[in-house]
Amino acid sequence: MRPLTEREIRASFINCSKGEAKRAGVPRDLPDQPWDDLDFLGWRDPGAPERAYLVAERDGALVGVALRVTSGAARGFTARSMCSFCLTTHTNGGVALMSARRTGEAGRQGNSVGQYLCADLACSLYLRGGKEAAGGGVIDESLTLEDKLARTRTNLYAFLDKVAAKPE
Ligand SMILES: [Zn+2]
Repeated sequence: MRPLTEREIRASFINCSKGEAKRAGVPRDLPDQPWDDLDFLGWRDPGAPERAYLVAERDGALVGVALRVTSGAARGFTARSMCSFCLTTHTNGGVALMSARRTGEAGRQGNSVGQYLCADLACSLYLRGGKEAAGGGVIDESLTLEDKLARTRTNLYAFLDKVAAKPE
């Protein structure tokens, strides 16, 4: 994706207040992010470990989502969990349940959408081999990187659709 500025990131959030967007801890090393290898920018708030964020580019527009880290996947020491975006498996808390408040009225009523995701939101790097999952890894399958990236994008967009879904 193209490099983003702090200002663009703060303006992109769809599911938090202006105040929350202003207070969000944005990575300090933005210019050093591996932008060419990122399908979306995801990070944990350096000042608040229970908060995480992701910003994706979709149809030319930026979509930022504020997330709450509900839990590490504490299902036993050797249990493996899978990220629902990139399908990388991890052990030992490498996957965390993250929930996003839905936009609009649904969000005001307390509705949120939860997904198990790579705890560091580095899906793009796991897929490209730039980062290795402890005790897990990308599942062995005969898909090209391109196919895996497309699938990850599909999963990501489906999540964004759930966060921003209009009430029925
Ligand atoms: Zn992932």
